[in-house]
Amino acid sequence: MYSTRYHKPATIDDALAALGAGDEAKVLAGGQTLLATMKQHLAAPSDLVDIRAIDGMSGVTVQDNILTIGAATTHAEVATNADVRQHCGALGQLAGGIGDPAVRHQGTIGGSIANNDPAADYPAAMLALGATIITNSREIAADAFFQGLFTTALDENEIITAIRIPCPAKAAYAKFNQPASRFALVGVFVAKTDMGARVAVTGAGEDGVFRHAALEAALSADWSESAAAKVAISADGLMSDIHASAAYRANLIGVMAKRAVAAS
Ligand SMILES: Cc1cc2nc3c(=O)[nH]c(=O)nc-3n(C[C@H](O)[C@H](O)[C@H](O)COP(=O)(O)OP(=O)(O)OC[C@H]3O[C@@H](n4cnc5c(N)ncnc54)[C@H](O)[C@@H]3O)c2cc1C
Repeated sequence: MYSTRYHKPATIDDALAALGAGDEAKVLAGGQTLLATMKQHLAAPSDLVDIRAIDGMSGVTVQDNILTIGAATTHAEVATNADVRQHCGALGQLAGGIGDPAVRHQGTIGGSIANNDPAADYPAAMLALGATIITNSREIAADAFFQGLFTTALDENEIITAIRIPCPAKAAYAKFNQPASRFALVGVFVAKTDMGARVAVTGAGEDGVFRHAALEAALSADWSESAAAKVAISADGLMSDIHASAAYRANLIGVMAKRAVAAS
């Protein structure tokens, strides 16, 4: 048995103070990952700092073709938000396909990317859309943020406050669900952006989410299903586990990429 102190600060400064004061304090958002790991005794934080009541942590704004989403915005809010639907429908569709209604009404975008599960959906969207992760102290490009399985660029006690996303010309996400968990066995997010085509793959990489250079080159030259179909997808660096071999995942990357381009 262990005891945990629960804090519900109203400001970022109070949240940082509570995180700094605890021996092993942790940020709590939707609890969909953290509470499960605590129940399994895989985590035993001294303090839980619930960030959901902090002003400005939730909600979506759009300005100059850039979406800004508060870190504590739930998947359900992203899925149904009118600005998301209008400016980046693929992100709303992705959020609406996470887990089940209970997970979507509690889980948050900030919690998902801070956790960086190798089969989570949002990290693929962040990489493909060229998002910027905003924290209490700095801004981090998505390309530098995701650093391996369950590993990010966040420092200890650093809090994600929002995510900034440039709206793409076209985008779509295609996910092949692991049927029991509904996490991605393979998910591919494609985006036609000012920086060219960007393609990110989740669920498949041994080191977690990654951008697919060959698909990006093909789709930058020709944004079409047939261009995606011509790319040979290597199984090098892909996961093999009880759910699927690396070769199966490689095949799924090609299939999901074609489906995503067709849907964009
Ligand atoms: C049954 C089930 C099915 C699921 N299916 C899917 C799925 O299909 N696709 C998918 O992508 N995910 C899925 N998930 C995971 C879900 O999306 C969670 O919402 C997500 O992993 C964590 O978000 P959370 O807000 O609950 O974070 P929490 O569990 O509260 O926190 C997770 C971690 O992030 C840290 N953290 C949280 N917020 C911040 C912040 N703002 N700044 C810094 N650190 C922070 C916490 O300290 C903790 O370490 C599923 C979960 C369950 C239980």
